[in-house]
Amino acid sequence: MSYDRVEVPADGERITVDEDGELDVPSNPIIPIIYGDGIGKDVSPAAQQVLEAAAEATGRSINWMRLYAGESARERYDENLPEETVEAIREHRVAIKGPLTTPVGSGFRSLNVALRKKLDLYANMRPTYHLDGVPSPVTHPEKMDMVNFRENTEDVYAGIEWEAGTDDAERVREFVEEEMGFGDTIHDGPVGIGLKPISEFGSKRLIRQAIDYALRNGRDSVTLVHKGNIMKFTEAAFRDWGYELAAEEYGDEVITEDVLWDEYDGEAPDDVVVVKDRIADNMLQQLLTRTEQYDVLAMPNLNGDYLSDAAGAQIGGLGIAPGANLGEGACLAEPVHGSAPKYAGEDKVNPTAMILSGRIMLEQLGWDDAADLVRDAVEATISSGKVTYDLHRQIEGGTKLATSEYAEAVVENIHELA
Ligand code: NAP
Repeated sequence: MSYDRVEVPADGERITVDEDGELDVPSNPIIPIIYGDGIGKDVSPAAQQVLEAAAEATGRSINWMRLYAGESARERYDENLPEETVEAIREHRVAIKGPLTTPVGSGFRSLNVALRKKLDLYANMRPTYHLDGVPSPVTHPEKMDMVNFRENTEDVYAGIEWEAGTDDAERVREFVEEEMGFGDTIHDGPVGIGLKPISEFGSKRLIRQAIDYALRNGRDSVTLVHKGNIMKFTEAAFRDWGYELAAEEYGDEVITEDVLWDEYDGEAPDDVVVVKDRIADNMLQQLLTRTEQYDVLAMPNLNGDYLSDAAGAQIGGLGIAPGANLGEGACLAEPVHGSAPKYAGEDKVNPTAMILSGRIMLEQLGWDDAADLVRDAVEATISSGKVTYDLHRQIEGGTKLATSEYAEAVVENIHELA
């Protein structure tokens, strides 16, 4: 398509998809980037610099295409999420974004959620691993090496809800209590009501992404995390569809935990992924008590939201935690943290989460050598004590760097390690 208010870089080529649905990536791809609101203007250029250096060090180039959403889009287009931005990401398949502000309670709905929905990026993937030198609240942060897959499009996040005191909320109450036979179950007086759809289609495609990832990356297990003991027709259904999918589509490559114990005495054969399930509250404590037994996790939206932040805290918190939203032949990488408006433009915050989100993006491109280089260079920088304010306050004797200085230090390490 032609673009009105954004420039397409002249030197780059578009990523396409082959007949098997696999990405076909040139060595000079065009990569869309949204800087984002607040600290987006600090962390995004820092990440660009690091990712460019890793691409160049491995014989490639990245051709950035700046796109706009949130505040920058309001300035340019007078709207929050221009269609041009959505279309450009759709067309170029792999992109990266900084955080976008969402007003609480009133105002517009989350632009992050809108982007994921419009592009059908149904899986939120968060690799959670410890880097040497990063301070952590737990004694053995290195035990965590987990990849969380969180469903992005349904559950209580689908946005189907009715405000207390409205006619619509009263109509839903009446329908539920009278027509559906739930009697007088909802308290009298104003009540807000939300719907929690969890579908076979949505559950299976998310769990498929998780199992495929585990098989591709030699991971040992996929754990389905649910609250099925209480929510039998939504959360328990998610688990059941997961086991069904494993049996239907993966043959001997995937076994259940029961089979693991019945037939293999607890020792899984190589190249086999074990599918197991855990109730969400138990899983939250096992994150801390049996960290090393968990590998890839697949979860409905709300469980995934809580659990991936809790896991992120164990390996150093928000300044570090990367993420990406995945669809069919599509990836939008983004850090877990928000726009932290109080630090915007101060050249202060930690760009590691954005840089490591870029690392996921490089892996999606199939540039594993460049991705590993980014990880190793970040680790070398932090373990030499060169850190931003957030980590500096937690370690002794480090050097406190600005966002831009930290990015330069990582680039220097890329040159040294390449
Ligand atoms: P936040 O922006 O993530 O910031 C919360 C706190 O986390 C900051 O005050 C800071 O803690 C720390 N932090 C976050 N990013 C950091 C970084 N890069 N380096 C160092 N420290 C970092 O969360 P929030 O204040 O709840 O949300 C602000 C806005 O962001 C909201 O509008 C929210 O909706 C939005 N949001 C967007 C996304 C997204 O775009 N995907 C995700 C989450 C939230 P200290 O002050 O203690 O140092």
